[in-house]
Amino acid sequence: MTSNSLRQGIGMTSARTRDRLVQRLRDQGIRSRDVLEQIRNVPRHLFVDEALASRAYEDTALPIGHGQTISQPFVVARMTEALLARFEGETVLEIGTGCGYQTAVLAPLVKKIYSVERIPELLRKTRQRLRELDIYNVQFRPGDGWQGWPKYGPYDGIIVAAAAPEIPAKLLEQLAPAGRLVMPVGPPGRQELTFVTRRDDHFEQLSLGAVSFVPLVPGA
Ligand code: SAH
Repeated sequence: MTSNSLRQGIGMTSARTRDRLVQRLRDQGIRSRDVLEQIRNVPRHLFVDEALASRAYEDTALPIGHGQTISQPFVVARMTEALLARFEGETVLEIGTGCGYQTAVLAPLVKKIYSVERIPELLRKTRQRLRELDIYNVQFRPGDGWQGWPKYGPYDGIIVAAAAPEIPAKLLEQLAPAGRLVMPVGPPGRQELTFVTRRDDHFEQLSLGAVSFVPLVPGA
């Protein structure tokens, strides 16, 4: 199979299957055309094991090994939409690269992504996968997301794909003026997708509803 036919998808990964997923997300309230187009474009079947490829366009999280999951498309769409609403920035810090699905959805919509993942083995595969999809505006680093990535900060946006009891202070420090952060916050079973905007002298916080993520492992 050529990489081109892989990318276009065949059979269970056909345009119709993807359209159904997009329609479902629209029905659930995703409005951003850019985001919906990306959900249609990004070949999610290439981010999971071949054995799970037939389920890649279901709106569900799936295992990706190492006890981690690929995020549910609705949640990726919701987080991306929130992050980019009236966004005029350029740089985004992503914590929890995983298989890189969220990264691939976001990459064409921003200038540059800096992405941190604690499991080097996952990162190695993800780097290669995104290269094969011709995504080049992402810089990766193995490391502990609790620390952010000070070198390239502050960031106009920060997106975190793992849950913590509170927002890591280092991430708030690395948020640019008027920058926004979206992440799941709270204990297992009671996580809320939280949206933070940095104002002149305070952080404004908003809940976007209940979610369920793997934990942001402390001190990785
Ligand atoms: N963004 C992925 C979902 C990743 S799941 C997607 O699009 O599907 C969450 C990821 O966060 C896992 O890969 C996990 O290894 C990573 N993670 C957990 N704790 C971390 C930490 N402290 N620092 C960096 N990455 C972490």
